[in-house]
Amino acid sequence: MEHHIIAEMTEPGGSTLKEWHMVRGEQPESMCGRELDLSAQKLSSDAWGTDQARPFCHTCGALFLREVP
Ligand SMILES: [Zn+2]
Repeated sequence: MEHHIIAEMTEPGGSTLKEWHMVRGEQPESMCGRELDLSAQKLSSDAWGTDQARPFCHTCGALFLREVP
C-alpha cells in the first residue's frame, strides 16, 4: 500500500507547521486518526526519518514502522 506524509498546520489554512503525519493510500485521515486537510503540503513516504519530515507525529511513526517491511 502506498503511504504518504501530510502536513498538519497549527491552524487550518495557516502557514506554521505543527507536525507531519503518515497517511495510508488516499484515506482522508492520518494513521493516528487525525482528520487532515488534504490540500496541505505532502511528502513522499521516502521522506520519513529525514530532516524534511520533522517534527513527525510519534503515533504515525510507530504505526508506520510496524507496517513497513
Ligand atoms: Zn499522526
